[in-house]
Amino acid sequence: MRLVLVGPPGSGKGTQAERLVQRFGLTVIGTGAMFRDAIARDTTMGRQVRPMMDQGLLVPDPIVNDVVAELFRGPTRPERFVMDGYPRTYAQAIAFDALLHLEYLSLDAVINLAIPDDEVVRRIGGRRCCSNPECGVCFHSMARPPKVTGQCDVCGHPLLQRDDDNEETIRRRLGEFHKNTDDLLTHYRKQKLVDDIAATDPPDVIFQSILTALTRRNPKAQEVL
Ligand code: AMP
Repeated sequence: MRLVLVGPPGSGKGTQAERLVQRFGLTVIGTGAMFRDAIARDTTMGRQVRPMMDQGLLVPDPIVNDVVAELFRGPTRPERFVMDGYPRTYAQAIAFDALLHLEYLSLDAVINLAIPDDEVVRRIGGRRCCSNPECGVCFHSMARPPKVTGQCDVCGHPLLQRDDDNEETIRRRLGEFHKNTDDLLTHYRKQKLVDDIAATDPPDVIFQSILTALTRRNPKAQEVL
């Protein structure tokens, strides 16, 4: 199974990706997480992308496309995966189509997690993510509280607010998202790959909606493809 998750920040892409990984054993490919890891390790690329991420701006397409291409061309290229946050622009979708074509791979579905902007701002204010770059799991003070306040349930590291999770930056990230997503979705709609899912529901309900959509596409989808 090969999936792309599309949705604004705070729509639950990371949470749903995590569930898809648990349910189907997919590899999650999160470009935001890859950049945060590069920043934490203070690599050349990390230093290059940090100012853009801090301002809530998108990293330029060629940099993101290269990072993803490197992953797919390496010896451990993923065969069954869920993309969390890539492609995010039409240009990235075209580059990704070409990359997959070269690798003899094709997408099964693009899951569009739809949610109003004000709900995103409300949600992100309460978001706290694990500070361990190897883990990165996110919690929410209301929707998904950790068992111990300020501590990751999975690995025990402290939970922190991401630098780009403040309201001003979030509004800018939402602006960037809307500017780019129409063309991206139109591209995938032409390929009949898009399933629209209401991301205002609780995570369990969203996950069920995703499973229903995948089963509609392929009745054997839940048999772990
Ligand atoms: P995310 O964790 O997906 O919310 O991404 C956090 C930040 O990483 C974004 O606000 C961008 O600055 C950058 N980023 C992640 N993925 C992409 C992408 N596909 N294209 C451009 N920038 C990206």
